[in-house]
This record gives sequence, structure tokens and C-alpha cells, in this order.
Amino acid sequence: MYHLRIVLLLLFVLNYFGNNSIAQTKIYSKKEITKLTDQASQYLKDANFEKSLDISKVALRSAIDANDLYATAICYITIAANYAEMAEFDKAIFFYNKSLSYADKTNNDILRKRINNNLGNIYCFEKKQYVEGIKFYENSLKYSQKLADTNQVFMTKLNIAWAYFDIGRFEKGLPSLEFINKYNKKYGDETTVVALNMLNGMYYAYKENHNKATSFFLSAIKFGKAGNEKSDLSFAHLEYSKYLLKKGDHKKAYENLERYNVITDELYNKEKLDKATVAGINLELDEYKREIDKIEIEKKAQLQSLEKSKTIVLLFIVIFLVLLLLLYSLFKNNNYKKKTNAELSETNKELIIAKEKAEEASVLKSQFVSTISHELRTPLYGVVGITNMLLDEHKELEHSPHLSSLKFSARYLLSLVNDILQINKIEDNRIILENLSFNISDEINMIKSSLSFIAKTNDNVVQVNVDPTIPEYLIGDKLRLSQIIMNLVSNALKFTKKGEVIISVNLMRVEGKSHFLEFKIQDNGIGIAAADQDKIFDKFVQVGRKETDYQGTGLGLSIVKQLLGLFNSDISLESAIGKGTSFKFVIAFEFNPEKTNEIIKNIQVDITSVQTINVLVVEDNHINQLVTRKTIEKNNYKCSVVDNGYAALEILEKENFDVILMDINMPLINGFETTRKIRLKGIDIPIVALTAFDKAEITEEALSAGINDIIIKPFDSIKLFEIISILTSKPKSIA
Ligand code: ADP
Repeated sequence: MYHLRIVLLLLFVLNYFGNNSIAQTKIYSKKEITKLTDQASQYLKDANFEKSLDISKVALRSAIDANDLYATAICYITIAANYAEMAEFDKAIFFYNKSLSYADKTNNDILRKRINNNLGNIYCFEKKQYVEGIKFYENSLKYSQKLADTNQVFMTKLNIAWAYFDIGRFEKGLPSLEFINKYNKKYGDETTVVALNMLNGMYYAYKENHNKATSFFLSAIKFGKAGNEKSDLSFAHLEYSKYLLKKGDHKKAYENLERYNVITDELYNKEKLDKATVAGINLELDEYKREIDKIEIEKKAQLQSLEKSKTIVLLFIVIFLVLLLLLYSLFKNNNYKKKTNAELSETNKELIIAKEKAEEASVLKSQFVSTISHELRTPLYGVVGITNMLLDEHKELEHSPHLSSLKFSARYLLSLVNDILQINKIEDNRIILENLSFNISDEINMIKSSLSFIAKTNDNVVQVNVDPTIPEYLIGDKLRLSQIIMNLVSNALKFTKKGEVIISVNLMRVEGKSHFLEFKIQDNGIGIAAADQDKIFDKFVQVGRKETDYQGTGLGLSIVKQLLGLFNSDISLESAIGKGTSFKFVIAFEFNPEKTNEIIKNIQVDITSVQTINVLVVEDNHINQLVTRKTIEKNNYKCSVVDNGYAALEILEKENFDVILMDINMPLINGFETTRKIRLKGIDIPIVALTAFDKAEITEEALSAGINDIIIKPFDSIKLFEIISILTSKPKSIA
């Protein structure tokens, strides 16, 4: 539809310009123009010049408007001929030249022949400009020969000979004379016979062949007297008189000159008569010429405006085509865009699906890791617990290599599971740093003493250097910090034999409340090759591991790096094989005495209670039941154990307890559900979830079920008693 409208608009514009280019005057058909030119010629023949010129003007306007080049040439010929007849030779020449230009445009040789001949006549015999005139004759001759118009050739040759003889160039005119002599019989007639004889007389007079000259002149006069060619007869007398004069025959010469004068007078009088008829119109001739010129100028202007219009139309077409091209490219572009967009949105959809799948897979992975580690931790907890119990109860087995191997393997497995769980948690962004108040020296010394066993094994000395300018108490996640230092120091102790491990902490700078501490763990052990230094932070990477020496998990440094990431920090390493290794990192801790006091106040708990606490353990795993019972009874607490939730509800009907340790993952009814039922019964005994699940994973559900606190298995017994102590002194609170 849009395209159609543009095309219609274009047609309208073309039509508009087209109409504009057409003249407003009455247009005659080709036939009518021919009729008009015929009429004009007829009036010219009748010497009615005024009429002839008037009609020629009308015909000319129509011919020019109709762009009829042939008719235009004819009109100009008639006009020129009218002027010639009226002895206005310059104007005649002007219009003949115009007619010649149109004849040239049409390539019409008949017109060219005719016009050139007429121009030759005017130049030679009226203007007496022979050289110019002869040129036109030669042109006319060329066209006549081309047209095989022998009559015209004959006439033109005669004129050429006469023109040359008039200017005394007899040898130049001779070939033409010879030609007309040769073809006289065939093409000559009474109109040419006088001139022919006269020209021969002239030639022989020039050649001083008196007999022949006299004979030809006399023949010319004889034919002239007999015929109608009065003008030619007058010239024959004139030329003969010139010859006689040259010969010295003055008398005859005078007689012939007389004859010439008489005939010329006669002709002149007739011409005078004709002239009188044109006298009236002669006055208007200039005006007429101006009008004719105007017609041409108008036409030229029209043509120019037509040209302009054509240019505009052409421009319009070009612009239109360019627009069309643009439109087309736009359309193509649009299509391409649509296609690409469709492809993009398709890819987007696929990406979204892939992302969802990846997220799902990630969730599944962390769920899987969490479940597996839970499943592994529970039996491991049993293995470690029972090993400890065996060692406690059977002191004679203390040096049993099997038992220590069992203890080592169980601990190794437990640390592997814990490490995997830790990494999983960090990667899932489930770790949020806690704000605890701590003393940096205490923390480091505690790490030192807890690792003293490994230090001793490898005969290493551990040195601690803490910058005295560090405030006594800082606030931050001391547990994660300890974990980082512990990992690095235990590595240093493991990979150093009979050497030294230096743990140093320096205050780098203070920005407001933030104290930037630089930690450096340096050893003089085996060192790490430069090529391995980047790799060791990747998961499960162990360099040059010797089975007998050491069995690490290959996760330690990876955990360190990720934990430091939580502190917005990074680790750097300097090491050389055989010389030792030093790890460095910087962490900012807050220094805030008021906040510190608040925290310290909150953790002041007395766990040295002498009161006997009655503990109910709800646990389905018999090994775990055993381990937990032993731990609790070791602290002189009373302990009752039930296998499941229903049994717990039952026993609670009969007995009073101070605290319930509730396993979460139990058959029949899980820990959450059991707690809910207990709370429904209005029992508000503190309940601690004892679980291998990760704390963060269950906190929300635990709280909503009515659980007071959570302890992760395998638990630190001190931590357990700390919590029991808090809960039994302040029931219903949750830490
Ligand atoms: P793991 O110690 O459990 O094998 P880590 O991630 O803690 O795993 O360490 C990766 C590896 O980096 C180690 O196996 C050991 O080759 C190298 N490494 C770490 N700390 C040191 C150190 N202080 N000296 C020499 N090598 C070390």
C-alpha cells in the first residue's frame, strides 16, 4: 500500500512537470503546418510578401512548438526567400543560416543543397562576395551529387564558373565550364543557354581567341533576344562590351554597353514596381524579425525549463530510487534484526534454562555434599568417640599401633569431611563472619599449644611474635582467623623437620577503628618450588606427597584462601626449595572497647556448677548413644537415653529433666517434630539439637520447632557443657 502511494505521487509529479513544459499557444498539427508553409510559398511566388511572411510566422511558431525541425527549416527558407526578394540580403542571409542549422539537425540533404545554393547566389551576385559564395556553391554541389540531382549539379557548376570568371579566375572556373559544355545537350535549356554562351565568350576572350570569343558572345545575344532571360542577355551585352573595349573596338563596345543599360533600366523599373509593393511592409520588417527571434528565444526558454524540469524529474527519480534502496536496506536490516533478535531470544531462553539447570545442579551438589558429610560424620563420630573411650578405659592399649592407626584414620576422615563441608559452605556463600571479642596473643598461643604435638613429632620449635602495639582486645571472627592460622602453622610444622616455625603478627596501620594486622607464618622447611606456588591453592593439590610422611587432604590452602576472601584479604607466598616458606596476609579487625566489654559480659558463664543436671538424650544410633552418654556421665551429669521421639514423649510424662539433647535425623519421628510435640505439651525444658547437619542449614527450622540451641557432632565436650550451663541457668534463651 505504501509503495503504491509513492508510485502514484511520482506519476503525479512527472505529469505536473510534463504539463508545464508544453507551450500555451495553439498547436497546429503537422499536416496543418505543411499546409501553412505551402501557402506561404505560394504568396511568395505571387510577390505577396506580407501575407507570405505572416503565414510563415504562424507556421514557424507551431513548427518550433511541435519540435518539427523539417517544418522549421522550411519556414526559415520561405522567410529568407521573402527577404531576398525584398533585397534585404543581410536578413535573408541570417534566416538562410537559421534554416541551414535546422536542415543540418534533420540531416536533410535536399534542404542543405537548396539553402547552400541560395546563399551562394546572394553572396556571389548580390553581395559580390565571391569567395564566400563559391564555398556555398561547393557545398550545394556536394549535396546535389550525393542526391544524384544532375540538373542541380549542372546549374551549380554554371554558377561556379560564372563566379570565378567574374573575379577573373578563369583557370579555376574552367573545369566547371567544361562540365556544363559537356552536359549542355542533356541538361541545358533556354534558361541556361544565354549564360552558357556568355561564359564561353568570356573564357575565349580571356584566352584571346577572338573568333571563338566573338562567336560565343554573339550566340549568347542571339539566344537572349529570342528568349526570356533578359537579365542574362544584359550581362551578355556587358561582358561582350568589356571584350570589345579590350580589343579596341570602342564603337561596338559602346553599343553593347548601351544595350546593357537599356535592358537593365527595364529590369530596374520592374523591380522598382515590385519594391513599391513591399515598401509598406519593409517598415515592419525589423519588428517581424524581432518577433521571429522572440519565438526562438521563447522556445529556447521553454526548452531550458523543460531541461530543468527534466533535471528535476531525473533528480526526483534518483532520490526516489535512493529512498527505495534505503527503504529496501531498512527492510532487509529489520528482517535481519528480527532474525537475530529471534535467535538471541532463543539463545537467551537456552541460556536461562542452562543457568537454571546449573543452579539446580549447584543446589543439588551442595545438598549432596551436605547429606554425604552428614551421613559420614555420624558414623565417624562414633568411630572417634569409641576409639577415645577404648583408650580411656583400657590404658594398656595406649601404645597399640592398631588403635593409634584407627584413631589417626578416623580423625583424618573426619577432617576430610569437615574440610569438604567447609569449602561447600564458603562456595555457597553460607558463611557469615561473626563479631567476637578476642585477644590475639591468646588465640595464637592456643593454636601453638594445640599443635604442640605435631611440633614435637617433627622436632620443631614454634616461636610467637605479637606486636605489643596491638590493642588487647579486638573484634572479629576469631574462629575463622584461628582456622586460617591453624592450617598454615600445621602445614609449616608438617613440612619442616628439626626446624623453626615463627608466627608473627604486626600492626600495619590504623584507619579509624580498623586495625590492619599483618600475619606471617614462616618456616625453614622443605620449601615449595616456584612452579608449584600458584597450584597449591587449588583444591586437592598436594606437591611431592610422601605416603609415609603425611596424609593431608589437599584442601587446607584452598580453605585458607577462601576464608581470607571473606575477610576481603588475600594470601601471598615466598618460598625457596630447601630454605623454607613464608605465608603472609593482612586482616582488619575492629578496635572498640565498649563493644568488647558488652561481648565479654555476655559470655561470662559459670560452668563449674556442682549441681547435678539430669540430661535426656534422644538418639537412634546406638554407638552415638554410647559416646554421648559417656561424655555426659564423665561430667557427673545424670543421663537417660531413649531411641526415638515417641519414647522421649513417653519418658517426659514420667520424669523431669533439666535439658534434652535431641538428634534431628531419626526414624519414625524426627527431632524437629518431636520438639514440636514436646512444646505442645507445654514442656519448656531447654532442648539442644545434637546433629551432624550444618548449623546454618537447620537453624531456622530448629527455632520454629522450639529448639533452644544447636551443637554439631562430633561435638567439643566443653562447648556442650558451656551450652548446657547457659540453658539450665537461663532457660528458654537461645545463644
Ligand atoms: P595438605 O596440607 O592437606 O596437603 P594444603 O592445601 O594445605 O593441603 O597444601 C597443599 C600443598 O602445599 C601441600 O601438599 C604441600 O605440598 C604444600 N605446602 C603447603 N604449605 C607448605 C609449607 N609450609 N612448606 C612446604 N610445602 C607446603
